Amino acid sequence: MEDQWYPPVPPGYSNAHRAFLQGFMARGTMTFSEGQKMLAEILSVDALEDGRPPVDPRSVRLEDFQEYIRAAREAIGPIDLEIRNIRQQTGRGERIWAFINAQSDPATQMATTHTPEEVAYIKRLLDAMFEEYNTPRMEVMAVDEGQALKVSRPKRQGGRESGINGQLNGDDGGGGDGEEGASKAVDRGLKHSEVLSLLSSLVAEGWLDKSRDGFYSLSARSLMELQPWLMLTYNDNGDDDDDAGRWQHIKVCEACKEIVTYGQRCANRDCIVRLHDVCEEAFWRTRRERKCPKCKTAWDGKHYVGERAVTSRSGFQNGRGRRSGGGRRSDLADSIAAQEEAGNEEDDEDVEV
Ligand SMILES: [Zn+2]
Ligand SMILES: [Zn+2]
Repeated sequence: MEDQWYPPVPPGYSNAHRAFLQGFMARGTMTFSEGQKMLAEILSVDALEDGRPPVDPRSVRLEDFQEYIRAAREAIGPIDLEIRNIRQQTGRGERIWAFINAQSDPATQMATTHTPEEVAYIKRLLDAMFEEYNTPRMEVMAVDEGQALKVSRPKRQGGRESGINGQLNGDDGGGGDGEEGASKAVDRGLKHSEVLSLLSSLVAEGWLDKSRDGFYSLSARSLMELQPWLMLTYNDNGDDDDDAGRWQHIKVCEACKEIVTYGQRCANRDCIVRLHDVCEEAFWRTRRERKCPKCKTAWDGKHYVGERAVTSRSGFQNGRGRRSGGGRRSDLADSIAAQEEAGNEEDDEDVEV
């Protein structure tokens, strides 16, 4: 009768469901093809006992997988966990399922595994990704190592140091809970070596992706978990109706309505239509012409969101070639961003990547 010790389980919840949930939790994230393998292994145990042949992973249908996900979701509901899925923005665009903390912000996520200084650094890193390097002119939403190092320490702004707690909770320090000083730790930031090891552990933990060109961006799992928080934190959430067409830091794909941090943008800089690479084929298939659905500008697929906003620039490509000469590439992304902000039109020089 040890079942009494589990949270209430959905009707029909079996040992196979339990094994699936345990396996999924151990992995943290799962694609459908990984789910097929796991379910085939689980179901093969019973099959073999009954003298039937083992289950072929390919025979596990998406509906079967989703049924196990549904049961798992019901089982974990009582402990404030959720299972969500999102399509990966690169590669083949595989859908990925993950456990999500229903009440999610970076501070809560990281608090048990990272020091307060590290958590404060992660907030500065997110600000760099989603504010500093995410402007109407250049929506990079990724940083290279040099840019990640630039935020090693908090900016000192005329006595407005809000302390670690204030920064993490998005609290501007207006609350009456203790004055600056005694109750609030002073965030001294991280050393460069500490930033570098934190970045690699965030990649290892699956929070960040690191690209071939050395850019760090939020992983699919992080985006899934943090999307509501990102929108709340970086978008202007006024309830004005005429805000609808205005540029915002966090935007969604015209096709799938999921967040876009890597994809394509309308060539018209004032237009907010964005599209994932992995969504575009199906999107254009249903349309007669490749024009932006909102502003009707021709869609050339060469205006980018994500690191390609930097790496497609001839300046980056030339600089990459010269890098062997000892130049620090970490300055390259920064100088390209600075040029762009200064208004150097380089649009016509976009290079295929
Ligand atoms: Zn999409
Ligand atoms: Zn447009």
